[in-house]
Amino acid sequence: MQQKKFIKRSEDFVCEVCGTKVKGTGYTDHCPSCLFSKHVDVFPGDRKIKCGGLMEPIGATKRKGKWQILYCCQKCGYKRFNKIAPEDNKEKIAKLSQYPVENVK
Ligand SMILES: [Zn+2]
Ligand SMILES: [Zn+2]
Repeated sequence: MQQKKFIKRSEDFVCEVCGTKVKGTGYTDHCPSCLFSKHVDVFPGDRKIKCGGLMEPIGATKRKGKWQILYCCQKCGYKRFNKIAPEDNKEKIAKLSQYPVENVK
């Protein structure tokens, strides 16, 4: 008898930058410890981008009362904002917020 394999949509992954084991929730697209992300999504979770470069957190800003991290892809230079997750490293975000964030759309 073969057991049916349960298809899990949320992927757990090990951070390539700091080695933290990240529990996937289905929406997790960055490491809560070092905050690095990967250039794979157009919208969070859709995995439509084939770039695969590491997205470096380069700044943080508060928008409409919520913190957002500004990312820059180390491979292609693409920049985008990303919402923080509740489990994200608050110290890192505080440090990032010291960098001036230009308006990137
Ligand atoms: Zn990490
Ligand atoms: Zn990229």
